[in-house]
Amino acid sequence: MKIKLLIIGSGPAGCSAAIYAARANLEPVMVCGEQPGGQLTITTDVENYPGFPHIVQGPELMQSMEQQAKNVGTRVIYDTIERVDFSSAPFRCYSANQEYIADSVIIATGASAKWLGIESESHYRGFGISGCATCDAFFFKGKDVAVVGGGNSAIEEALYLTKYANKVYLVHRRSELRGEKILQERLLKNEKIVPLWNKAVHEIVGQDEPFKHVNKLRLKDVDNGNISEIDVEGVFIAIGHKPNTGIFKSALKLDSDGYIEVTNSVKTSVDGVFAAGDVADKIYRQAVTAAGMGCMAALDVARFLES
Ligand code: NAP
Repeated sequence: MKIKLLIIGSGPAGCSAAIYAARANLEPVMVCGEQPGGQLTITTDVENYPGFPHIVQGPELMQSMEQQAKNVGTRVIYDTIERVDFSSAPFRCYSANQEYIADSVIIATGASAKWLGIESESHYRGFGISGCATCDAFFFKGKDVAVVGGGNSAIEEALYLTKYANKVYLVHRRSELRGEKILQERLLKNEKIVPLWNKAVHEIVGQDEPFKHVNKLRLKDVDNGNISEIDVEGVFIAIGHKPNTGIFKSALKLDSDGYIEVTNSVKTSVDGVFAAGDVADKIYRQAVTAAGMGCMAALDVARFLES
């Protein structure tokens, strides 16, 4: 398939790039990826995206963005790019069944949740360990659960879980939260939430018979090394995100944390290939900043194709 602009990813950065590019007659093709709509599709209340004074749900916001992109002329394809060749223009991107040949590319593949990386976590993932409260909170009605982390994600997950769980422990490795003040206040006021400060997860304990499930969390005090235990049936890991840049490793310059290196906000190391949103932004990482970067990338593509 020969196209002027290929947009890889369909979160706020991808959709916003698509809207601007379509309106500039660039006939963009947006390939949605494995999680169409991106990270906002697994969140609930979005309170800080301008234009929605009465809160909008993440999935609804993303459906509207995609629809808006389609309405102005974007071709939206539910496919996943698995390999790229940016060695010369036109650029070649491949999914399992399709080759996309594009004069320009905007990468908006976002970021994915990080995991602790301990053995018991991988053993019980999906059997009491989750990375998404919105998806799985329902299974923990009336139960005690823990959320690990101290940023906005962890706070939001903990608050969301209080709608279902009996008690929610917030396990954080420091005594200070990183999340926004307004969320911190809500968390500390909520009687169902019990913060456990200066604690790191030592081990997630469970049983495999008669069915695989989690029943304890073993914690290590970061100050004195003491081990303690809490009884929980669910553990939600919310310790940040890593950029989805695996397929670009040998095609573009990445920084030491794996984010795409950009100059002038959205230009990558290859002329004609741009990056927008969480894939290239480790500082702000907001839906609204991602959308802004998507807009910038589309405007830069228009200039690039003209020249
Ligand atoms: P984050 O802000 O990077 O916070 C990650 C948290 O996990 C930190 O508290 C960190 O501890 C902890 N952590 C990291 N690695 C750990 C490990 N191996 N073991 C234990 N704890 C660990 O990530 P986030 O909360 O996912 O948020 C990411 C971005 O999205 C942020 O910019 C955030 O503002 C944004 N976001 C915004 C909203 C919203 O606006 N409503 C909602 C969700 C996310 P330390 O504090 O000790 O480093």
